[in-house]
Amino acid sequence: MHIPVYRSKQIHEWIYKKGVTVFQDMKNLPRSVQQELDQRFRIDYGRVSNSQLSTDGTRKMLIQFNEDPKAHVETVFIPEESRGTLCISSQIGCSLACRFCHTGTQALYRNLSAAEIAGQYMIAAWIAKDFPHSKNHQPRVSNIVFMGQGEPLYNFRSVSSAVGILTDPSAIGMAPWRITISTSGVAPLIPKIASELRVGLAISLHSADNDVRSEIMPINKTYPLKILMSSCREFARIAGVQTRRITFEYVLLDGVNDSNNDAKRLVDLIRDLPAHVNLIPFNPWPGSAYRASSASRVAEFCDIVRSLGIHASVRTPRGDDILAACGQKAGNDGLDMMYWECCVPGKDGTPWEGGFYKCVLIFNEDYPASPPKCQFQPAIFHPNVFPSGTVCLSILNAEKDWKPSITLKQFAE
Ligand code: SF4
Repeated sequence: MHIPVYRSKQIHEWIYKKGVTVFQDMKNLPRSVQQELDQRFRIDYGRVSNSQLSTDGTRKMLIQFNEDPKAHVETVFIPEESRGTLCISSQIGCSLACRFCHTGTQALYRNLSAAEIAGQYMIAAWIAKDFPHSKNHQPRVSNIVFMGQGEPLYNFRSVSSAVGILTDPSAIGMAPWRITISTSGVAPLIPKIASELRVGLAISLHSADNDVRSEIMPINKTYPLKILMSSCREFARIAGVQTRRITFEYVLLDGVNDSNNDAKRLVDLIRDLPAHVNLIPFNPWPGSAYRASSASRVAEFCDIVRSLGIHASVRTPRGDDILAACGQKAGNDGLDMMYWECCVPGKDGTPWEGGFYKCVLIFNEDYPASPPKCQFQPAIFHPNVFPSGTVCLSILNAEKDWKPSITLKQFAE
């Protein structure tokens, strides 16, 4: 489709700065252009098929693409007081099978496209009302980390295009230093994160002992620590003195990688790099083979690393009650959760119009009188993010055989 450059900038602005999802709402485009766009393209971020809210405010969304029941990923938004970090996925499943990672129990289904990666941001922006040219704008999604499902460097082309959309000033316009790509160690591509993408780097390290790392992360057999560290040095050289530190993620596994010697070995490995160590208390998931190190062991490990001159911090687990914390994402709904999809008619049977809606669930009379630990996750949805007239509700710990009929009340905000 041939349109002048200024028109494509207008379209970008409507989509990325104002969050418009219907071509007819792009008021400064001629009707003929609106119609042609409508015939040839669609604005589709993916469908939020489930959304869970942790007690700490972390929101985990299950996002489905192209109505394919196997094509879903988890995206997690972690709000803080004046900012928020969005953890996005780059693949559906993962081929790397890191032994401590819940995602690693799933086979790789396919790579995500650039649109599907950027779409995760757009959904979060919708929910957080974070569009710079919209009314009452509040910037909420301030940082993006590629730490969800998949190995981003095994999907480099799509990740690169998505970073282009995320950082393009005429599109989402996020500063590159607010984006971090986390890799399990695909060494040959690490320098490109500095030379082509110009974003931050995190390494899922988890052991400074080559044998232990090969045991818990099979990719280490292909790219052992010596090669990985050489790539990290090349990244730092290309990124230059302006670079932020490389973040080394280190999940502490009881009796596996958490001894005092492990801490000293870690410091020896990364001493010549601009490094920050992010220590992650292990988040158990159903069926995991490892136990978390004790809090005192985590604290002592951190003290040793700091005392030897390396910046280190302990990550506060977020969203662990909904399996949204680090290493817990697996694209399923958890063992104790059941959910139902309910058709919600629009006002007077007409399709939904613009605006957000909140739903509340009213249990029908045959629900057990005092449901044990039953917890309803209220859904906030928008007709263009969620399919017209459908909203997905989740109920935690409901009785397994119970099939409710559900009544919904709707509120326009
Ligand atoms: S830690 Fe990352 S690379 Fe390893 S299995 Fe999990 S998602 Fe894949």
